[in-house]
Amino acid sequence: MSVVSLNDNNYITVSKFGGTSVADHQAMLRCAHIIKNDQSNRVVVVSASSGVTNYLVRLSQENISEIEQKQIVENIKRIQLNILKHLNDSNALEKQILTLLDELSAYAKAQSLNHSARIADSILSFGEQMSSLIFAQVLQSIGVNGHTFDVRQIMKTNNLYGQAVVDLAQLSKCTAQVLQPKLKNEVIVTQGFIGQNDDGYTTTLGRGGSDYSAALIAEALNAKNLAIWTDVVGIFTTDPRITDQARAIKEISFGEAAEMATFGAKILHPATLIPAMRQNIPVFVGSSKEPEKGGTRIQKKVESKPTYRSISLRKEQTLVTVKSPAMLHASGFLAKVFAVLAKHELSVDLITTSEISVAMTFDNPTGSTQALLNSTVVEELEQLCEVSVENGLSLIAVVGNSIHKTNGVGTSIFDALSGINVRMICQGASEHNLCFLVNETQANETVEKLHNTLFA
Ligand code: ADP
Ligand code: ASP
Ligand code: MG
Repeated sequence: MSVVSLNDNNYITVSKFGGTSVADHQAMLRCAHIIKNDQSNRVVVVSASSGVTNYLVRLSQENISEIEQKQIVENIKRIQLNILKHLNDSNALEKQILTLLDELSAYAKAQSLNHSARIADSILSFGEQMSSLIFAQVLQSIGVNGHTFDVRQIMKTNNLYGQAVVDLAQLSKCTAQVLQPKLKNEVIVTQGFIGQNDDGYTTTLGRGGSDYSAALIAEALNAKNLAIWTDVVGIFTTDPRITDQARAIKEISFGEAAEMATFGAKILHPATLIPAMRQNIPVFVGSSKEPEKGGTRIQKKVESKPTYRSISLRKEQTLVTVKSPAMLHASGFLAKVFAVLAKHELSVDLITTSEISVAMTFDNPTGSTQALLNSTVVEELEQLCEVSVENGLSLIAVVGNSIHKTNGVGTSIFDALSGINVRMICQGASEHNLCFLVNETQANETVEKLHNTLFA
């Protein structure tokens, strides 16, 4: 088995493979070769195989029949066993996968009888549990000494199911004790997205959280590199699915990339760059399908800092406007509004205020495992003021540098927006972005128009 022994000062790269990269055997094999080709790759963080987490989200919901439950488990089984068909000596692995699927069915049944956020997170964790077992064997099939490691031994979190917060001190301590020693002779394959609370229950870090898990592990190991392998050849000037004019960015600063991720560039989970920035670990983003094409380097210092770097789009935004004449010349109203939001663990993205009203946006995506704006929150706000809720909006962020100090930024952006109804706009708080809301129906068209203007 190939693995050169590693001493503590050696160069470690943590590599994360997303859902499409571990979707089937061919995809996994490509990723395994990426690992084999660079001896610094000691820790592999995997997502669930493409589509599996979406099935699990459905399975974790309340209104699901026994027939649908069975159908979903069968669909997941098909995805996973199809990969095993290509592996020799996979009997033991198949048994492990079938045992996990039985466990999953039991959780699904329990969930339909008595729904809880705790069981939902246990259900969501099965995708990563299975893909990590399978990927280790794919590594072994090409002669790499890959072993699965249960990340719950180190990724200790609080009890906030669906968006658990990781205990960094415990992560660092447990990593040194139980993970680091293994890296001398093994390539470790572990799960993104999942963790464990003090009661021993499984938690999850939020949709798309595997990027963040990988960054946290890189930080805990003091790794020299974090590689995020996905289905595009790096970070683009905008989502390449929206316009074929989008182009790959060679290098980008931590600050700019963090803003892109925060405002919806799905390529990175919003929190991914926080650990990387704390420890100054450069992040590479590339395509596991075309590793030879290179990718984007995200790092502290970059050569160029253009005014316009990219455009992010986040759909399914909700705009809440609260209005109270009591706000006129009064203090303390906003504090009360935010106390309600804090109680329900909701975070506000954009905010604008006028004399007697405040407008705020919330990320409210379907299939999310995080706290969402619901009727209870609205009713509590109604005790304080008039509340109106608008759905079907998209948040667009123009990300770049010194946007707040550059002459003419507004002119070029607003020229591109002629004919578009801009529902709300935020500018000035950050040097890196200018954000606004448009109707979902006009979102893609708006991004395209802006891209044509700013990146022609
Ligand atoms: P993974 O499963 O590997 O985590 P994701 O689907 O979460 O992959 O993220 C990759 C996708 O992010 C791409 O396929 C692309 O459509 C989307 N994306 C959104 N914004 C950008 C951007 N600015 N640059 C590149 N990809 C983007
Ligand atoms: N599998 C999880 C999801 O689909 C986490 C991830 O892929 O990053 O959200
Ligand atoms: Mg992702």
